[in-house]
Amino acid sequence: MGLGRGASRGLRDLPPTILSSPKVGSVGRTGSWRLSRPVINYDRCTKCLLCWIYCPEGCISRAEDEKPIIDYDYCKGCGICAKECPMDSILMEMEEV
Ligand code: SF4
Ligand code: SF4
Repeated sequence: MGLGRGASRGLRDLPPTILSSPKVGSVGRTGSWRLSRPVINYDRCTKCLLCWIYCPEGCISRAEDEKPIIDYDYCKGCGICAKECPMDSILMEMEEV
């Protein structure tokens, strides 16, 4: 689904799209489904916002400085953000149970 590693990638390379925001639905706060959690290494992050675009839950928001912030109340741990990050700056870490 991505543009491929090594290619010039960024928010401006993608067509306009509709973005959603997380909210409590019939199944509540879906972050409780998560087995592993995405953790952003901000030292590597270039703020390209591809994770923000690709997150199927819309649970990544943008800080004032464009830094991506993950809302763990709704993140299901699918790992798509980690897969699409061109800088490998998102690592999936197992949740402790
Ligand atoms: S975490 Fe990765 S995909 Fe998300 S803004 Fe930073 S560099 Fe881009
Ligand atoms: S793991 Fe999935 S649901 Fe969680 S922030 Fe990344 S893309 Fe969104």
